[in-house]
Amino acid sequence: MKASPEAQLRLLELADLDAELARLDHRRQTLPETAQLAQIDTRSSELRDGIVMADTELSDLDREQTRAERDVDQVRQRIDRDQSRLDGGQVSAARELSNLQSEVQSLNRRQSDLEEIVLDVMERREAVENRRAELAAEQSALAGENAELTTKRDTALKEIGEQAAKAETSRAEVAADIPADVLALYDKLRAQHGVGAAMLRRGQCQGCHLSLHTVDLNEIRAAAPDEVVRCEECRRILVRTDESGL
Ligand SMILES: [Zn+2]
Repeated sequence: MKASPEAQLRLLELADLDAELARLDHRRQTLPETAQLAQIDTRSSELRDGIVMADTELSDLDREQTRAERDVDQVRQRIDRDQSRLDGGQVSAARELSNLQSEVQSLNRRQSDLEEIVLDVMERREAVENRRAELAAEQSALAGENAELTTKRDTALKEIGEQAAKAETSRAEVAADIPADVLALYDKLRAQHGVGAAMLRRGQCQGCHLSLHTVDLNEIRAAAPDEVVRCEECRRILVRTDESGL
């Protein structure tokens, strides 16, 4: 495989640009805002569920309160009726009188029990209302945080996108100067190892950082300048420069 020494140097530029593109991609994948937004999303859905649950409880308690208040009314009406019969002197038989009096007494107890229930429901209702208000407050605070983080994330993504577009343009220009077969080998190696071409620097491959054996160095030294050489250790394309120590 052959490529002019200039084209081989372009491979190093290509490797730098690919490294930058990989770095940008990694940054895009690991933006802290993305993780924070996901957390907010989870919490928001918990809050939504909590609010729905509180609303259900509130409407249940409303029904319970209405029922208890209606029961209180009914008992009260019965007491009033019995009381007016007693007061009106319509009941004269001793037995009937005593029955009516004990009924009024038991109705009074019943009324007070029912009033307790109403109070208890109202207290529970207040607790649920407080809980719902807390959830709603947290929800609205989170909505603000969410908007802020989304803006921050979008700004970061835009910036990364612009840098990546610039690097892609440069990459296309550089790639155009490299013979197609060499470029294909480079891309294949890059897919396998992450880095497709490395500089030979002071007898060391900058891809795997191993120093080449004298035999291999001698072979490289003997190779024509337009011969594409490979590292014996990592098989990456080795690019010779003034610093190669040959
Ligand atoms: Zn190597």
